[in-house]
Amino acid sequence: MTLADIITNHLCTGCGTCAGVCPSSAISMVPTPDGFIRADIDPSLCKTCDLCAEICPQIHPPKTLMDGTKSPLTGTFQSTWLASAKDSKDREEGQTGGFVRTVVRYLLESQRVDAVLTVIDNPADPLRPQALWLKSMNDLPRLAKSKYCPVSLNSLLKNIKTINGDVAVTGLGCHLHGLINAADRFPDIKRKIAFKIGLFCDRILSFYAAEFLVRSAGVSVSNVSGFEYRHKGRHGGYGDPKIQTRDGNDFWVPNSRRIAIRELFTPLACRLCVDKLNILADISCGDPHGMDTGNRTPTFVLARTAAGEDLINEMITLDLISCKKTPNITPDNLTKWHKLDQRLNRCLTYGAALKEKGYLLPYHLQHLSPDTILPRHVKRRTRMALWCAEGKINLKNIPVWIPLLPGKISHAVGVLKRAIRKCFRI
Ligand SMILES: Cc1cc2nc3c(=O)[nH]c(=O)nc-3n(C[C@H](O)[C@H](O)[C@H](O)COP(=O)(O)OP(=O)(O)OC[C@H]3O[C@@H](n4cnc5c(N)ncnc54)[C@H](O)[C@@H]3O)c2cc1C
Ligand code: SF4
Ligand code: SF4
Repeated sequence: MTLADIITNHLCTGCGTCAGVCPSSAISMVPTPDGFIRADIDPSLCKTCDLCAEICPQIHPPKTLMDGTKSPLTGTFQSTWLASAKDSKDREEGQTGGFVRTVVRYLLESQRVDAVLTVIDNPADPLRPQALWLKSMNDLPRLAKSKYCPVSLNSLLKNIKTINGDVAVTGLGCHLHGLINAADRFPDIKRKIAFKIGLFCDRILSFYAAEFLVRSAGVSVSNVSGFEYRHKGRHGGYGDPKIQTRDGNDFWVPNSRRIAIRELFTPLACRLCVDKLNILADISCGDPHGMDTGNRTPTFVLARTAAGEDLINEMITLDLISCKKTPNITPDNLTKWHKLDQRLNRCLTYGAALKEKGYLLPYHLQHLSPDTILPRHVKRRTRMALWCAEGKINLKNIPVWIPLLPGKISHAVGVLKRAIRKCFRI
């Protein structure tokens, strides 16, 4: 399979690794008709060295992912924790408990690393965050909370040679898969990566999803000065999307609206991705689903490697995080709380639906059995996603009422049913 096959079969996750390692700078990351980012090869610059295909995780998943020694769904872990930043600003600014933010701060302040490859807010375009090598504490305030949209983090690997010392990386599963491939191929990159901090990830959404949420609040996209997918100030840790406008007003959208439109704006690549819990990171972080955490929402942290566990212990000793070990977490708990069985089923069914339509699949699904039973909604959503990816339908300016209509109808049916039951006392 070539990189062109990945692109034409809509399998590119937009991780940016190919663009980050291409020796001829022939690959750039470009917007797609459905509001994502994908790799684009300039044939006039390409020297057909095939390095891009070698490191693309959709063609060659990292060896460690496929070697059978790790559970593909939960991975291995040494210890599990509920962690919050001790610094109240970091806790407030963080998406969950501000743990990742505190790690980034500690690594830079203690000079354990010279730079952290991470995602920051983009004041020039608040709906399109950007990747950055964070080198100075002055940039920490711009560190993004969870942005459920594409960021081609690894395209900045091309600048790693400008950093003298060690580095850390914070990223999603697809980012870390590409990073590990690049590190396996280039000893210079491998030598520099001291820590890989992974975020759990169910999916990203098209940029049009954020624009939709903005429009649904009656705000013009060009008037947005700040956007949060989940603002903790409203409804706690799993808060509502918040929009700030250039004229100084704040608007909120109910989180249920973000959830209601998710399926419409999910890329095919995410539907085929198995690694929700970022199993190849040194430390993986997510929301504490299924756990009793009281009023606070700490970050749920899995220390996967000895280096990851040592880092957490160091930060506890220095009183940077309040951390509680959660000793009885098993792979079965994680599977249940993070719905990993459903996710695997999602990969298999969407993979089968694409295969049935004659599309290629990423390596980890290529041996899919053709007799998987395909639910109707999977066929419908696959067809829709393909139409959007191929530009036959454009959701950029979809009227706000259309995606919300099914939810409104089922709500009305529910109200009607309850009223009928009440009237007839059934
Ligand atoms: C796209 C996405 C999907 C997620 N899905 C889930 C999920 O399904 N279940 C779950 O339990 N947790 C999920 N998370 C993780 C969760 O939202 C928190 O990020 C995690 O709990 C860490 O919280 P924190 O307060 O410690 O992080 P913070 O201290 O707020 O740090 C957040 C870190 O995330 C990075 N980041 C933000 N957006 C992106 C992005 N698009 N790509 C790469 N890095 C990014 C920032 O650079 C920063 O380093 C997801 C996160 C993202 C970004
Ligand atoms: S390396 Fe990443 S960005 Fe490049 S084609 Fe593969 S998935 Fe897409
Ligand atoms: S679901 Fe997988 S492919 Fe999609 S953004 Fe998350 S880690 Fe990447």
